Amino acid sequence: MKKLEVILAAPRGFCAGVTRAIEIVERALEKYKPPVYVRHEIVHNQHVVETLKAKGAVFVKEVNEIPQGAVTIFSAHGVSEKVEQAAEERALFIIDATCPLVSKVHLSGQKHAKEGRTIIVIGHEGHPEVEGTKGRISGNVHVVSSIQDIQDLPLSSQDDLAYVTQTTLSLDDTKVIVEELEKKYPKLKGPGLKDICYATQNRQAAVHELCKKIDALIVLGAKNSSNSNRLRDLALDYGIPSYLIDDASQLNEKMLKNIHVLGVSAGASAPEVLVSQLLENLSMLCEIKVTEQQGLKENVVFKLPSQLKDTKAPTSSLLNHL
Ligand code: SF4
Repeated sequence: MKKLEVILAAPRGFCAGVTRAIEIVERALEKYKPPVYVRHEIVHNQHVVETLKAKGAVFVKEVNEIPQGAVTIFSAHGVSEKVEQAAEERALFIIDATCPLVSKVHLSGQKHAKEGRTIIVIGHEGHPEVEGTKGRISGNVHVVSSIQDIQDLPLSSQDDLAYVTQTTLSLDDTKVIVEELEKKYPKLKGPGLKDICYATQNRQAAVHELCKKIDALIVLGAKNSSNSNRLRDLALDYGIPSYLIDDASQLNEKMLKNIHVLGVSAGASAPEVLVSQLLENLSMLCEIKVTEQQGLKENVVFKLPSQLKDTKAPTSSLLNHL
């Protein structure tokens, strides 16, 4: 049997914002009883969504699909003011699972807009976090994700401008975009790379280190998960074959051809059980030796919303697998 060394990235998987969002849904189900409605996937992971569905959560695209007055949770990605207003019109009972680090970006954009600046959001158009951020800032908001987008901006070099960024971007790519914006717009204000959250930064730093030792990388995460895609891309930038898979069922022998050392990471919304299942499947194909990177220990915890403070953590939780 082929021998394979597997190095697990550390840190990997759930961040504090995802842990809080899942806990909010589980506690709301216990306190208010099903159905509890969730606008958008609570976090971008099908395993998480299906597990919460089985417990009685109902996932919808828009609030107009929710019955008047029902208990409704906004996902970790945040929502625009329009969505909030639509929810108020339906008298929905809202519990907000927006990650506090996303809310911080909203506040920063709002402050700059209030001070008269036009806002540029660095991020991926159409991603729910970017939609939410855009929809919380008054005036014209421009979204850029590439140097080409900057060249196409209908703005003058003398305009008062500020930028904020999506929290889950590539640090390396964002640095290049910020430098380009600063060159073109001397009056530009912004946070540098500080809007990119600690979890994204730590997971990327871990994969950077890993790339010095591995022949290929597998990232567990959803195709629509921004931070998971960035982890996959990072290894590709090193010229290392790199795969983003939803779960172990998508592992195939071709991915392991000529590979002696395999790195494994997981996006911020991917539960650890997916890593265990991948190791199990790998052990059916190869004789594996598993080690874990010496990584940074994370101890970030976010407070629950006031509506759920008096609740106890459910005994059966998605979070028990951590
Ligand atoms: Fe919050 Fe970062 Fe996690 Fe997104 S990835 S939920 S911003 S901690």
